[in-house]
Amino acid sequence: MSIFELPDFDGHEQVVFASDSQSGLKAIIAIHNTHRGPAMGGCRMWAYPDSTVAATDALRLARGMTYKNAMAGLPIGGGKAVIIGDARTSKSPELFRALGRAIDQLGGRYITAEDVGTSPADMTFVREQTRYVAGLSGDLGGTGDPSPATALGVFVGIEAAVRHRLGVDSVNGLTVAVQGLGHVGYDLARRLHEAGARLIVADIDRANGERAAAEFGASVVSPDEIVDAQADVFAPCALGAVLNRQTLPRLKCSVVAGAANNQLATDDIGEMLRDAGVLYAPDYVINAGGIIKVCAEYLQEPVDSVEDRVRAISGTLDEVFQMAERDGIATSRAADTLARTRFA
Ligand code: NAD
Repeated sequence: MSIFELPDFDGHEQVVFASDSQSGLKAIIAIHNTHRGPAMGGCRMWAYPDSTVAATDALRLARGMTYKNAMAGLPIGGGKAVIIGDARTSKSPELFRALGRAIDQLGGRYITAEDVGTSPADMTFVREQTRYVAGLSGDLGGTGDPSPATALGVFVGIEAAVRHRLGVDSVNGLTVAVQGLGHVGYDLARRLHEAGARLIVADIDRANGERAAAEFGASVVSPDEIVDAQADVFAPCALGAVLNRQTLPRLKCSVVAGAANNQLATDDIGEMLRDAGVLYAPDYVINAGGIIKVCAEYLQEPVDSVEDRVRAISGTLDEVFQMAERDGIATSRAADTLARTRFA
């Protein structure tokens, strides 16, 4: 594998390969940019087929964190760690302690947290070896699950988008299609319901849909149908790459605004959405509520300052929408341009 030649290598500052034969740890820590501060981003555990795929994911995710953290106005840069291994079968306290030691050797240039395949409980073992970890459970001085903060950010982001696109001040009376009712999607659905929105929902777990129907009067459709929902807003809160050449022609909404990471299958989908008259709230701008909370926890900032900062996502999106309109470009491109000026 040639790291520097990988298409996703984008001038990353540092890439560290950490291994520990006793615990079986094989991890890659990618630090993309520390101009705004130490690199922060979660640790993913995944059964990558080989180390090139793992390195590509680490590079891509680390770069994404630089953009996300810069747009959230946080005093941190972007980085990410990946552990090569099956999270269902290969976890052990020793594995996470070994990761903690590797992170500690970086002297604070990289701060980790939970991500796909890891949990606050795993971070407890990381914490035994290093203080450069956030997203801990309450009993360790952490602030617990960041998902409600993410959901709040997405909610105010949807309000900003409908204000811009539809000229309305709230979601009251609008229809929102929510794809995925997990940690973020369910809390978002609750907020939308309380604000007077009609809901169309889908989840591969039927029980989640049934609960939303009972609690919020949501109409439940199958996971295959949610993209076609007749709604004002489509809120992807499940998977990445949901906006692609196949789904784009099926969208009936005028706004796409949701929590899922990497919603655009390819960069040009941003332009295609614009051409189709759909206002897209760039994923890494609207879904930054969780990292805002985790960062505040790490910096030991007052908990009550978090909500205001999450609500400020609305103003950041306004800036993105206005720039896109003024320059005649996709919102995804406007966000990337604004982010680059903030971490250059
Ligand atoms: P989660 O795993 O708790 O929830 C995802 C939900 O989507 C689950 O209920 C799952 O059954 C459902 N789902 C999966 N595939 C589906 C499909 N094809 N159709 C419909 N539903 C499907 O995850 P989460 O923490 O709620 O995160 C949701 C998304 O938001 C992810 O893309 C995540 O990366 C992103 N995100 C989350 C946070 C956070 O704070 N949790 C922060 C930023 C971004």
